Amino acid sequence: MHEIRIAEDLCAIVLEAAHSERLSKVTKINISFGQLIQIVPEIFEFAFRETVRNTVAEDAELSIEIIKVRMYCKNCGSEFQVNDNLFSCSNCSSTDLEIRSGKELFIKSIEGDQVWK
Ligand SMILES: [Zn+2]
Repeated sequence: MHEIRIAEDLCAIVLEAAHSERLSKVTKINISFGQLIQIVPEIFEFAFRETVRNTVAEDAELSIEIIKVRMYCKNCGSEFQVNDNLFSCSNCSSTDLEIRSGKELFIKSIEGDQVWK
């Protein structure tokens, strides 16, 4: 259940950004997760809803993008996307691999209504 901790961390970032951008309301939050973070979107969304309650991000729409795992094969040099947790090279079957993507965790963008002076 690491979704709760991640939701709290991301919520803090969102609220800080909303404050510095002078947003009166956050309407949409675009988040990217690497597949290896193993987030269950439903649990994350639930945890996030709990965390943003009574804040300017309370009604924000949550958009979650999952970034596929890409591996680099140190044996033959090919780069490939991992499907079905099959962690061996699709070209030469080597397991001497390096992770190129899939461990990301970041907020892509935040949309909201700005307070005008
Ligand atoms: Zn290979």
